[in-house]
Amino acid sequence: MTDAAAALLGPADVRAIATRLGVRPTKQLGQNFVIDANTVRRIVRTADIAPSDVVLEVGPGLGSLTLGLLSVAAHVTAIEIDAVLAGALAETVAERAPSLAGRLDVVEGDAMRVASLPGPAPTAVVANLPYNVAVPVLLHLLEHVPTIRHGLVMVQAEVADRLVAGPGSKVYGVPSVKIAWYAEARRAGAIGRTVFWPAPNVDSGLVALHRRPEPATTAGRGAVFAVVDAAFAQRRKTLRAALSGWAGSPQSAEAALRAAGIDPGARGEALPLEDFARLAEHRPVRT
Ligand code: SAM
Repeated sequence: MTDAAAALLGPADVRAIATRLGVRPTKQLGQNFVIDANTVRRIVRTADIAPSDVVLEVGPGLGSLTLGLLSVAAHVTAIEIDAVLAGALAETVAERAPSLAGRLDVVEGDAMRVASLPGPAPTAVVANLPYNVAVPVLLHLLEHVPTIRHGLVMVQAEVADRLVAGPGSKVYGVPSVKIAWYAEARRAGAIGRTVFWPAPNVDSGLVALHRRPEPATTAGRGAVFAVVDAAFAQRRKTLRAALSGWAGSPQSAEAALRAAGIDPGARGEALPLEDFARLAEHRPVRT
């Protein structure tokens, strides 16, 4: 990677831009800006961006990560919900990386609702995600932007653990199974609090994603996600009990589980995605 063409932001730059724009970071939008150029270099290096990659960045904020990504990617499309930040990004890039400014598209909007994007189709997602909406944003993008093949996201450490957890783990749950529908997820590092302004009161973690084929099932994604939601809504219960509402009765739940080859006395936390996919095929038709 070379960032020779982009002058990355340090703490004084971040504060100066924020002051100029009158930005006061809000918790509501998960605004914790990276003030450490080494962290940006590390994220960009770990993201393993090829020169042909088109990166979708969620929440560019003041542009810390955007500048690093522009140095290595063919194109960056940045979607930012905060109108002031979205409006200022092109200018920051023009000042700090003028030769790369033509590689950037900025979209002002909500990454959880985005349906179409300008410019070339994204092949990668790289983001320091707003922590309160990290999982729904990620699921939305993996569903609606099927050209994304890989990614690297920074999230709250506990969320990182959940995203990468496998069956049997205490933190295996709805996010783990739903992400697994789209991608293989693995931990790619830990990030401390001091690299942000303002410093969050939680640690952060990096998660690397690689798109994988969706499981072979005649049940659609919606049907599979419905049984996943039901199984984990009462995660301490056996599947026979937890899925009685989903199936119509405990007896129907037991029959569906047996038909799918799953022990009705097991708990949802023991089941891999493939079992949920098979189980969804056996949901009783309700009249
Ligand atoms: N990428 C910047 C950095 O690393 O310094 C900022 C990261 S900050 C953790 C999250 C950013 O996401 C903020 O700029 C915030 O305004 C933006 N944001 C929050 N919710 C969003 C949403 N639903 N869609 C798009 N951007 C969002």
